[in-house]
Amino acid sequence: MATVTYRAQQALSSLQAGTQNALVIGIIVNSFNIKSIDATRTRFNHGERGVWTFTLRDSEEDSINVTVWGSVQFVKKLSSVLHIGSVVEVINPKVMERRPEDRNEFFVPSVSSPCSLTVNEGNALVQIHDAPTRATYEPLLMLPIKKLTELRTLKSIFENLEALRDQYVDVLVVVTFVSDIRNVMTKDARSIRFRNFEAADGSTGEVVSMVLWENEWIDRAALWEPKTTALSLTDARVAYDNFRKKIVLSIARKTLITENPNVPQAIAIRNSVKCLDSDVMSENVFVTPNPDTITAVMTVQDISTKLNKKTKQGERLHFASILKGYVMDINTESISPGIISNRCAVCKRHVVNGNDSCMDLECPCGNGTRPPLNVTSLNLKVNLKDDTGYLIGCRLFGDAAERVLGCTAAQFQAMKFPEREGLKWKYALEKCDIRLHILGPTSVFPRAVYNILSIVRDEDEDDATQPLDECAHMDDY
Ligand SMILES: [Zn+2]
Repeated sequence: MATVTYRAQQALSSLQAGTQNALVIGIIVNSFNIKSIDATRTRFNHGERGVWTFTLRDSEEDSINVTVWGSVQFVKKLSSVLHIGSVVEVINPKVMERRPEDRNEFFVPSVSSPCSLTVNEGNALVQIHDAPTRATYEPLLMLPIKKLTELRTLKSIFENLEALRDQYVDVLVVVTFVSDIRNVMTKDARSIRFRNFEAADGSTGEVVSMVLWENEWIDRAALWEPKTTALSLTDARVAYDNFRKKIVLSIARKTLITENPNVPQAIAIRNSVKCLDSDVMSENVFVTPNPDTITAVMTVQDISTKLNKKTKQGERLHFASILKGYVMDINTESISPGIISNRCAVCKRHVVNGNDSCMDLECPCGNGTRPPLNVTSLNLKVNLKDDTGYLIGCRLFGDAAERVLGCTAAQFQAMKFPEREGLKWKYALEKCDIRLHILGPTSVFPRAVYNILSIVRDEDEDDATQPLDECAHMDDY
């Protein structure tokens, strides 16, 4: 690329509404999912349009929101190469004054600039800033967007939920639990990814449980390490949660997350959660952890001993562990139709073999108001053993099953039996690193449930653990 001298570069703080041919450079600190807007809802009916908003910073004090508009293809391509942490140049954007009464302002992070930038396909550009000066922007990713002078403890928030309702607060927490990626289907049959996480700050024994909906954060959270990764949450929202039927602290579109913020308070907060149990599990029994965050290694005997301990009345024991053992069998060649299940994507009901849809008259897919949309998933059984005993009938289902077998449920369904049987020989009778989420029995379900989250052959183990090591260095500043 030709060398460009950046004489034309402008500091974010110097931008004014109407500035012509502006060129700003900064680091992306927040990024939303792209949205596509139906052609019928756009002004000139130019076809389906894409929109993507991110937040840019060029100094400790200065930040601005940037919105990119264009064809879905253009916006998708840009957002796939520019990520949180990318240092970018925004060339010739439209510089507009922000208006506090603008509804859109409620759905973007609070920034210092009185302006916002719009990048229209064809009139403006966003590109990677490929020059040594990029290093001057990188430390900004680890500085909270505003000074942490109004930090609140989780204790004071939990004690004042009613008074704080619909307000924004700043907190500094340490991650205690990260879930695996999860999917939900919306009423209009779009599949959305999300990830749960929990965090504590030492001010109370309680943890805060939150959800990440933005893809960039869902992906970054794959590297979050329980009890090590600190997060500064600027403008976290206290609001009523319709699903959980209570007031909770949550990540809103205004919330800015800073990972491992470079502030002295982060060390104290980390120390305050160090003494927690080895693997802290979600408060919700059914939320499975990100397998990479599991550290406790247990034998079959250790697992049995833990399951046989008495628990408090009404409490369900659940924990995660790594088993260094052997896969005796996976029932991939089973003729039982139960190993592949078809569910309605919208209402989640079973689709009975031979039917097109759930046939439920309350469901749009069942009553014919929209075409049937079914999701196929695997539901396998695995037997494990180690030197101390056996775990029979472990469950391997959904995304975990697809990851382990290396094929989708639909591909599996299309396979002939010998091919299906071949899949299990990748693991059968081999020493493996098996990550499990184990649920203890209850009065209604008298048997413990062993859910398999991942299986990796021991010889591959060196490769598999590398990302975790890198992550540890990242936190080691
Ligand atoms: Zn349905």
